[in-house]
Amino acid sequence: MHFNNLYYQTFPNHYHSQMPMALANPMLVCKNQELANFLGLSEQRIRDADFLQVFSGQAVIEGMQPLAQKYTGHQFGYYNPDLGDGRGLLLGEVIAEDGLNWDLHLKGAGPTPYSRGGDGRAVLRSSIREFLACEALHYLGIPSSRALALTVGENPVYRETQEQAAICTRVCRSHIRFGHFEYLFHSKQTDELKKLVDFCIAHYFTECLAEPKPELAFFRQIVIRTAQLIAKWQAYGFCHGVMNSDNMSILGITFDFGPYAFLDAYQENFICNHSDHSGRYAFNRQPSIGLWNLNCLAHAFSGILSIDELKAALQEYEPEFLVHYRDLMQQKLGLTDWQPQDQPLLGQLLDLMQQHQLDFTNTFRLLSETDEQAELMAWFGATEQNMAWINAYLRRVNQQDISADERFKCMQKVNPNYILRNYLAQNAIEAAEKGDFSQVNELFELLKNPFTTQKDKQHFADNAPQWAQQLEISCSS
Ligand code: AMP
Ligand code: MG
Repeated sequence: MHFNNLYYQTFPNHYHSQMPMALANPMLVCKNQELANFLGLSEQRIRDADFLQVFSGQAVIEGMQPLAQKYTGHQFGYYNPDLGDGRGLLLGEVIAEDGLNWDLHLKGAGPTPYSRGGDGRAVLRSSIREFLACEALHYLGIPSSRALALTVGENPVYRETQEQAAICTRVCRSHIRFGHFEYLFHSKQTDELKKLVDFCIAHYFTECLAEPKPELAFFRQIVIRTAQLIAKWQAYGFCHGVMNSDNMSILGITFDFGPYAFLDAYQENFICNHSDHSGRYAFNRQPSIGLWNLNCLAHAFSGILSIDELKAALQEYEPEFLVHYRDLMQQKLGLTDWQPQDQPLLGQLLDLMQQHQLDFTNTFRLLSETDEQAELMAWFGATEQNMAWINAYLRRVNQQDISADERFKCMQKVNPNYILRNYLAQNAIEAAEKGDFSQVNELFELLKNPFTTQKDKQHFADNAPQWAQQLEISCSS
């Protein structure tokens, strides 16, 4: 393994060096072998025992230089200057198989100067949820940080009840957030801010170097990637839950998982975060919150770009989001083009789903598997309104110059059969808390192929049971 630790070398004033706090008697819950191979952590070089030691915070590999990064951000609409890695440590940047540097980051590795009184730990349940979601999103084609390892220890952690401490190892090109720029701007470190912009362009946005004004191209890229990412969340029914600006990656990847959820029954204003009383981060507010966060970032860029440049770049957000979202919904509906009547057709479908509490994912999957009117009526319910929509939809798709089989094939590539439903994660968590990690690993394997029907796994595609509606996912993780 070769580490180059660019952040460590470049920004000595914006982190705190520190060793991880080890888990006691750790066990390996999950290992992402494919990702380990990609990163050069192959079996020959790092034995399983070493792997467990490193990713439970007991040892570091030569070349790692662990550090907690300083950043700030807007939480629930208000600026908080005291943020940073409160329980996360960047172990180092490793040069992977693709020749690029990738961050290895432990989450739950002990308190840091940015912990604000917290214990620096993460509990097993939230670490399982983060591990599975990173990978589930990745395999759905939604950019996300990845998960390499999940370990659990005997250390007690106190939340609403006593729980087990765990560490999830997160991997992505960079952990630089909107909040890194907000920190340097609000603490008036102008030269350092400029240096961070140049650093990001040089390492993660090299295509911007060819543009007449690389800083502007960089900011525009963040706007565009964020719009595209959130369009994907909306198309796949993913609710992030805590879209604070410190949880927004500049790379346009899904990042920092808390009480997220995939929609079961469609509810446009669904709030997955039990602590989000005002619904600030409700499902249908995610697109506008994405823009709100970009405005925070634009403010931080106000010494680097002119107001007009920033405004023009921000104005690209909405059209980019709409085009990307429409394109995805066109594919999900099995349409080869987008005609004026398709917008109301989609709107009515969402209304029907909401009205009849139909499962978002399974409704689209059914439309990708059958055009039998009777079967569709059985799913939607036998009302005139449903019949009218089904007939309008079938008329529309049958007009196209493409066979039903071909259409189904295309639709099944964008309408997953399996998603990481809260109740599936909950069942796996309850087993893991009793020492049985098999369900976590089964879900991990299953979700690598979300679009393919897998033998003996059909029950994982069932609608959520009644009890799942009562599941409350809290912010305490
Ligand atoms: P989050 O909403 O999970 O992204 O966390 C917001 C901030 O609180 C970040 O700066 C975290 O590092 C910090 N934080 C969350 N949980 C803990 C904890 N148990 N101990 C220390 N810091 C924490
Ligand atoms: Mg965070």
